[in-house]
Amino acid sequence: MTAFSHGHQFINGSYRTGTGGSFPRVNPATGAIAEEVDYASIRDLNDAVQAAASAFPAWSSLTPGERSEHLLNFAVALTARADELAAMETAQTGKTARLSSGFDIPGTIDNVNFFAGAARHLQGLAAGDYAGKSTSMVRREAIGVIGSIAPWNYPLQMAAWKVLPAIAAGNTIVLKPSELTPGTSLLFAQIASEAGLPDGVINVVVGSGQEVGEALVRHPLVKMSSFTGSTAVGRRVMAMAAESGKRVHLELGGKAPLIVFQDADVEAAAHGAVAGSTINAGQDCTAATRAYVHSSLFGAFTARVAALMETMVVGDPLLEDTDMGSLISQAHRTKVASMVDRAVAAGATVLTGGGAPDLAGAFYRPTLIVGAAQDSEIVQDEIFGPVLVVLPFETEDQAIALANDSAFGLAASAWTSNVHLAMRAGAEIEAGCVWINEHIPIVSEMPHGGFKSSGFGKDMSSYSFEEYTNVKHVLISHDTDIHKEWQNTVFKQR
Ligand code: NAD
Repeated sequence: MTAFSHGHQFINGSYRTGTGGSFPRVNPATGAIAEEVDYASIRDLNDAVQAAASAFPAWSSLTPGERSEHLLNFAVALTARADELAAMETAQTGKTARLSSGFDIPGTIDNVNFFAGAARHLQGLAAGDYAGKSTSMVRREAIGVIGSIAPWNYPLQMAAWKVLPAIAAGNTIVLKPSELTPGTSLLFAQIASEAGLPDGVINVVVGSGQEVGEALVRHPLVKMSSFTGSTAVGRRVMAMAAESGKRVHLELGGKAPLIVFQDADVEAAAHGAVAGSTINAGQDCTAATRAYVHSSLFGAFTARVAALMETMVVGDPLLEDTDMGSLISQAHRTKVASMVDRAVAAGATVLTGGGAPDLAGAFYRPTLIVGAAQDSEIVQDEIFGPVLVVLPFETEDQAIALANDSAFGLAASAWTSNVHLAMRAGAEIEAGCVWINEHIPIVSEMPHGGFKSSGFGKDMSSYSFEEYTNVKHVLISHDTDIHKEWQNTVFKQR
């Protein structure tokens, strides 16, 4: 990819070459070096934050309608470049072209369109007379410069989920994408600029997490840090933000359970489990990773899932017939393979998969594991690969308790034809999203975000405005009497 011959930093409306060294980015599906990515120095980062701070007064002063119009123009421009964005997303992640063009890019464009509309509904409480002769109103105000940090699994969508609610609400932003996948975030900012968004509203800096990421979180002009990534780094971001009492928004890891109750449609549940565990090669924070299946269905479910997994075509992500592309890197594949190997050493059995096909890239087969203990690493820790572990249960109480026996709480699904059980699962499973007879679908109108170690704060939906706005109470007295009765509690009226 030579698209960024003018550098990998998008600051104040134009590209520049970072002055903080460089890094050879590898195409994970081929193992070949794709490009040399320049890194931002702290000086480059300061320039980006300054550009965002300078753009803030004018951008936050636009009417919601004017910001909305910018976003609508942006959506049209993105649609015109959808093929280019999809090709770049596949080239940098190794995910299938089918997923990039059918999910990542249209999902992002839909988000832009959603926030173009939502920008006009940034409402506070209109008015109310709560304290005698006075009227209260609530203003929702932009916060200022937002520093956002995104992961590599859905690079464009994760960037969009951070950028869009922030700018729709009147903030400006400095985004640091993962250094492994900077391309589509840069192109996103470039297209926004070409569509007419003012310089400095969206800035992208590319660099390492330890240096540029930490400096972005700590920067005094950055008023809020929003982060999507691993739980370990999210905790570090929170600790750094605490040094200055900075606001944080954290979307962290997941370990989604999938419960198959006794009355479930096994065929539907098996299809849902295969798609839900292998989407994006399992590198999805909401991927189905632990299935709890009623003991009466255990054999039928595992046999069907194994059979379906074995039909999956793993390989060249550009081919239309390929179902699953590569993982993000050889190092990540080693991590996934090691976790599977340790599960087997601890007594689990691999029913299918459990290894890599004979290909140059970082591929790993869809893998089904049984016989693992509930407290084992493979059931408790995030694996972020195409691996599903299945455990049996006997009672409904037990199924829900096992699903909740996790540090994480991002997403979950329950499969049943009993409406009472569906409602119970929806209420009792500790997760930010519970699907019934589905696993994975997300929509721009609905919030996405976790409980417990999966973080807090919501992406997408108008709930995300809670994160990116300050809520202010303005009280206007219309009492013309100089002597206010409440003042007697402080000093007697004279
Ligand atoms: P990661 O935590 O390693 O990196 C995420 C980002 O943080 C990258 O841009 C990285 O450069 C940066 N970073 C690393 N160290 C940093 C530091 N010390 N200070 C500041 N920034 C730092 O995560 P990853 O491997 O890129 O992504 C996978 C993780 O993301 C998984 O845990 C997955 O569950 C999670 N994720 C969560 C959601 C969600 O919505 N909850 C969505 C997608 C991915």
